[in-house]
Amino acid sequence: MSDTAARIADFIEPLRVAPGSKVRLGRDFDPRYRAGLKKREGVELLRTGVALLAEYQERLAAQDTYGVLLCLQALDAGGKDGTIRHVMSGVNPQGVKVSSFKVPSTEELDHDYLWRYARRLPSRGEIAIFNRSHYEEVLVVRVHPENLVRQKLPERARGKDVWERRYREINDWERYLTDNGFKVVKVFLNLSKEEQRVRFLKRIDLPEKNWKFSAADVRERRHWDAYQRAFSEMLSATSTPWAPWYVVPADRKWFARICTAAILAHTLMDIDPRYPEVSEEARNDLLAARQELEEEAPSGAAADPYAARTAEAKDEHGAGHGRPARKKHGRG
Ligand code: AMP
Ligand code: MG
Repeated sequence: MSDTAARIADFIEPLRVAPGSKVRLGRDFDPRYRAGLKKREGVELLRTGVALLAEYQERLAAQDTYGVLLCLQALDAGGKDGTIRHVMSGVNPQGVKVSSFKVPSTEELDHDYLWRYARRLPSRGEIAIFNRSHYEEVLVVRVHPENLVRQKLPERARGKDVWERRYREINDWERYLTDNGFKVVKVFLNLSKEEQRVRFLKRIDLPEKNWKFSAADVRERRHWDAYQRAFSEMLSATSTPWAPWYVVPADRKWFARICTAAILAHTLMDIDPRYPEVSEEARNDLLAARQELEEEAPSGAAADPYAARTAEAKDEHGAGHGRPARKKHGRG
């Protein structure tokens, strides 16, 4: 493991839910934890993380063998949108697919409960992000059982054991995906009740934030304890060796973002995607193509302008004479 990979692994270790452990959110995870970091250091770290993600995502796409699914869960105002915006800011948009899951449509309710999530899975070489995910099926659906009624299940499938069964089905589904080259990464943004109150008030106070708030959000907040229980049970039952949960402290947005970037980077480094090797035959084809292009050079032009420019640049820097590189803008 490289130095960077080892440091990232250490950094996220305290956030991982050990498979088989019994989680009680309030007791086990502190929404204000920040690993002793200051915000200024955090911003710098995030920049490094974003660059790392960009590089690995390109390799993932080039290799075209693995896909990555990042599931983001949180209570309202937990910071899912901002986390996606910041963490993916350096990544080529062509390689990423973001899906948000809301109240299911009639068509969605007419299928099995995993159907709509399966349709939004990543393809090979792609990173898919679920803004809310199949875990809503054991969260909001559990806290508000009328959602289960709407799913039109046969009687046997809505008995008392429905949640245990869903945990097992979700674990099996994720195992199947993992075995077939699709890594599932699960992040729960863990917000405190007080910080949610502050963020709601901000959404009410600032006109440009009003659209993010609805009266339903305060109604949902009244079910805080039921949600904490549902989250705790879900984390206990579905953190598996193949797809563990990470509980990310979310009271400080900047810290939640670094953690999420680190968790995603860890996954990508674990996959360690490589650019495909060029075979001897393909290499010969490339050389033949180069010769053909060089022969087309108009008079006065270099046969291979790109190679000529690269050689020139090397000469300038490598040999130590020539102009020193100077910034065009800014001081320093
Ligand atoms: P927002 O993310 O604020 O746009 O809200 C989306 C809403 O959809 C939330 O209130 C979720 O609880 C709700 N939602 C998401 N998935 C489901 C589901 N499977 N069943 C019922 N409601 C859901
Ligand atoms: Mg909302």
